[in-house]
Amino acid sequence: MKNHALMILLLVVVGAAVGYLFLRDNKAPALTLSPASGAISAKKPPVLTLQDDKAGLKNLVVNVSQNGKVTELINTTFERGIKQQELPLALEKLPLKNGPLQINVSTSDYATLANRAEQSFALEYDTKPPVISVLTTAHNVYEGGAGLTMFRVSEAVQYAGVQVADRFFPAYLQDNGVYACLFAWPHNIERSAFTPRVVVEDLAGNQRTGGFYYQPIPRPPTVDQINVSQAFLDNKMPDFQQYFPETTDPLQLFLRVNGELRAKNVARLNELATKTADRFLWEGAFLRLPNAAPRAGFNDQRDYMFNGQKVDHQTHLGLDLASLAASPVPAANSGTVVLAEDFGIYGQCVIIDHGLGLQSLYSHLSSIDVNVGDTISKGQIIGRTGATGMAGGDHLHFGIILAGIEINPREWLDGHWITDNFTSKWDQVMAQP
Ligand SMILES: [Zn+2]
Repeated sequence: MKNHALMILLLVVVGAAVGYLFLRDNKAPALTLSPASGAISAKKPPVLTLQDDKAGLKNLVVNVSQNGKVTELINTTFERGIKQQELPLALEKLPLKNGPLQINVSTSDYATLANRAEQSFALEYDTKPPVISVLTTAHNVYEGGAGLTMFRVSEAVQYAGVQVADRFFPAYLQDNGVYACLFAWPHNIERSAFTPRVVVEDLAGNQRTGGFYYQPIPRPPTVDQINVSQAFLDNKMPDFQQYFPETTDPLQLFLRVNGELRAKNVARLNELATKTADRFLWEGAFLRLPNAAPRAGFNDQRDYMFNGQKVDHQTHLGLDLASLAASPVPAANSGTVVLAEDFGIYGQCVIIDHGLGLQSLYSHLSSIDVNVGDTISKGQIIGRTGATGMAGGDHLHFGIILAGIEINPREWLDGHWITDNFTSKWDQVMAQP
């Protein structure tokens, strides 16, 4: 009887010990620092993440050592039951100098036999904004047109480009360390808002804005009137019914296509803008559709009239060129096809990327001869003119897009403009040691 009781007691003790060994928390808390290396500053503080799923987090000590001096940043005990913590390290509290530093983290959990984790991170403290050296001098920019600026930055950056009102035109780093940036004077901003600035941010989050000399040249828009006939509505609107099946009245459908579908298509141009090469893929003046008469221009302010009443207003952002029906359309310059499909108001449409955010658009085509991803050479036939999409008759709507916004295509068809505003600058800067 006595032996029996002893036996049971022994079993209980062994059972508890085995249970303890199996169930006890023997895992140290997980700790990560983001970023774990590289440049940091108070503007972009490193974030410490701690996790302990079983016993929960208990103590945390963080100190920072720099030039042999150790300063305590955090020394705390968490309440019981906290499994996860995310702490941005408030480095601005410490008297740090620019240069290498080490962040030492030590943490433990609430297990009976506390588990401890320790880790050190070597980082670089950097509060100095980068220095921008603009290498191009004259920037004569027409309203709705483009300009090129080239610059160097004193250190690696997260981003670099030119900011104009609410639009950012990314710059692209070339092999010799020069950033090249095509930027535009967007057609749709107040003239006083055209104040282009180079903006860069280094890896530690320090920003710098740099000015450069520029000469804005206003170019007043032209005014145009489009008569929307009943015949046009009867012919065209069935093509667009799929986009707005609930709108049966042809004029109402026209207004939704001309407004809502147009806006949707324009938004897609912004997405396609990211599919651009970081090198120039083109050379020389862009080709114009041969033997074609101009029908409409860039930034034409169009009033749409129906039965003598103004029913809509839109801005026309390309060149309309009319030749013989189903004329072959040459690629204006070399590049890569990024869109080749039925594209809303543009109808059958091709967009070619020429690098550094520059793209050309060919729309209302009756047929398309190329596919997305194709490498295209200047003059190669990409399709034939037509009247698909929002077109009253056979013509080519030719557009130039920069970083998602439509800009004046005429500049790119003009060899003199390209030499003065692009090639001569590029050659001069690239020839510098
Ligand atoms: Zn057009």
